[in-house]
Amino acid sequence: MMSHWSILGSGVSGLCVATALHAHGETVEIICSAAHTAASHFAGGMLAPFCEAEAAPHFQALHDFDAIAWWQRYSTQVIQNGTLVVAAARDHAELARFSKRTTQHQCVAPANIEAELTHFSQALFFKDEAHLDPRLVLVELKSNLIAKGVAIHTGQPRGKIIDCRGIYAQDQLSLRAVRGEMLILRQPELHFSRPIRLLHPRFPCYLVPRAQGQFMLGATMLESDSRQPMTARSMMELLSAAYTIHPAFAEAAIIETGVGLRPAYSDNIPKILYQNNAFYINGMHRHGFLCAPWLAEQLIQHIAGSAV
Ligand SMILES: Cc1cc2nc3c(=O)[nH]c(=O)nc-3n(C[C@H](O)[C@H](O)[C@H](O)COP(=O)(O)OP(=O)(O)OC[C@H]3O[C@@H](n4cnc5c(N)ncnc54)[C@H](O)[C@@H]3O)c2cc1C
Repeated sequence: MMSHWSILGSGVSGLCVATALHAHGETVEIICSAAHTAASHFAGGMLAPFCEAEAAPHFQALHDFDAIAWWQRYSTQVIQNGTLVVAAARDHAELARFSKRTTQHQCVAPANIEAELTHFSQALFFKDEAHLDPRLVLVELKSNLIAKGVAIHTGQPRGKIIDCRGIYAQDQLSLRAVRGEMLILRQPELHFSRPIRLLHPRFPCYLVPRAQGQFMLGATMLESDSRQPMTARSMMELLSAAYTIHPAFAEAAIIETGVGLRPAYSDNIPKILYQNNAFYINGMHRHGFLCAPWLAEQLIQHIAGSAV
């Protein structure tokens, strides 16, 4: 292949594509824009192919591509401690339903995995799943690329276009926005070391541990392209879920609230499209950190097998 590629966007899609292309000997540059906030900035960073299959059973690539191994190759930030899925006693039917729709888990007493989760009696443990801090990882990928001589700038593209603009590519693609609201909490008295998902019939949610006693609490899934700040309803529901996971969250400091727009096609499956002399890597929906590496490697095979 050996071309010069201009990647539009420095969210997880653009950075994974740049990393993979550079590793395969291609010349790349990244065109970024400070004016367009990346959904990637607000992500939980869960690498949870088995849990995610519950909502996307038809999405075979979740299982076929080892995204965790890809991230371990290119980032030092991957923590592979598994995922713990819990439900309040009144919602144990949800746990049974989740268990039937997923694989690679075992039934555990939650306190055997997370010592502070003493008030739940049952949980599912997905020991092979992982998580990362998206903000640290995006900085790490950028730094690695810059160290290898990749230009990241706001100027005009000079090469063949690979468009990774997420929801901002709505001008070219049939994408819809799925609004995700999240919070960052700080509660240094709690020491969870893996994502904890709370099942609930109406608003399932999760907590992802971050450094320095912080937790990402997410996330709503609203069919909306509103970038307005988080609503009181969403905040109350998410905080109530955090309190259900552990009452000590009542004393947590709210460090940040945020809103990101997930880019999604009608079938919620990410794709590579080629049109108007440009590649489009998009539609990551709720799986950007799981799927961007897969599409980046697919793109390389596609380019290698074509005359583009
Ligand atoms: C609250 C929340 C939680 C989530 N949790 C998870 C999770 O745990 N695991 C997971 O896998 N996924 C998660 N996701 C989904 C994930 O964040 C998205 O799938 C992913 O971020 C999409 O990445 P992207 O690079 O395609 O788009 P974006 O991250 O939106 O990046 C688009 C980029 O394009 C740039 N851009 C836009 N216009 C231009 C232009 N004209 N020129 C140059 N650059 C431009 C923007 O500045 C940005 O850098 C979550 C999402 C949200 C909102």
